[in-house]
Amino acid sequence: MGKILSIANQKGGVGKTTSSVNLSACLAQLGKKVLLVDTDPQGNATSGVGVNKADMDQCIYNVLVEDLPAEEVCVSSSVNNLDIIPATIQLAGAEIELVPTISREIRLKKALESLKDDYDFIIIDCPPSLGLLTINALTASDTVMIPVQCEYYALEGLSQLLNSIRLVQKHLNKDLMIEGVLLTMLDARTNLGIQVIEEVKKYFQDKVYQSIIPRNIRLGEAPSHGQPIITYDPKSRGAEVYLELAKEVMANGERVR
Ligand code: ADP
Ligand code: MG
Repeated sequence: MGKILSIANQKGGVGKTTSSVNLSACLAQLGKKVLLVDTDPQGNATSGVGVNKADMDQCIYNVLVEDLPAEEVCVSSSVNNLDIIPATIQLAGAEIELVPTISREIRLKKALESLKDDYDFIIIDCPPSLGLLTINALTASDTVMIPVQCEYYALEGLSQLLNSIRLVQKHLNKDLMIEGVLLTMLDARTNLGIQVIEEVKKYFQDKVYQSIIPRNIRLGEAPSHGQPIITYDPKSRGAEVYLELAKEVMANGERVR
């Protein structure tokens, strides 16, 4: 049975989508069967693995709001072993449309049940909010990965996220665990980066991944080519570190299960 892992942080621009796309692609390259689920109306994970949003007449919206089977919107990506359930801007309405519906928090969990056996990992890219889409992702997940950008106020806002995780554990998904905290966009030339690493490690201790994602121009460029870093520039530092992270996640996976 596949492990379901959400990548969540209500702050925008911390590296959720970059990490979702590149972790998924690296796990796939390492021979795992992976499904990426885009739950951000921006649809950047969708385009990031080479799927054209304009070609989609159905997406995760139809699954969550209209009960369309997830299999029917699942498509192959530009990467071997990696499928995606895409998101388009249509999903922007879901946050409000889901409010009056029955079992609104467990819709994604139910939708993924029929697919869980077909994959080793299901990675969910969350939107930058703690609304119903993120709650659906956390409710469907075995674990949550929290990306933290190496900048001033890195820990700001994390208490709200941790509180949402606790509420989901209490009411919706008692088995949800924190998979790990991922430090992103480290600029190794500054002292600030080192300070943030120390601060985050003091707080989260051994939950912090050894792999720390550097600020890397190639990682920023890859999405505009519809490719993850391991196909766009396999020799870049970004590709190396996301591969290391994928190995850590695989090792973690065996521990958690
Ligand atoms: P989020 O999904 O949390 O909003 P993104 O993954 O979309 O964040 O990243 C925000 C922006 O920063 C994007 O333009 C992305 O390409 C860029 N970016 C993310 N990680 C890196 C990195 N390690 N190095 C350089 N640019 C990055
Ligand atoms: Mg994003």
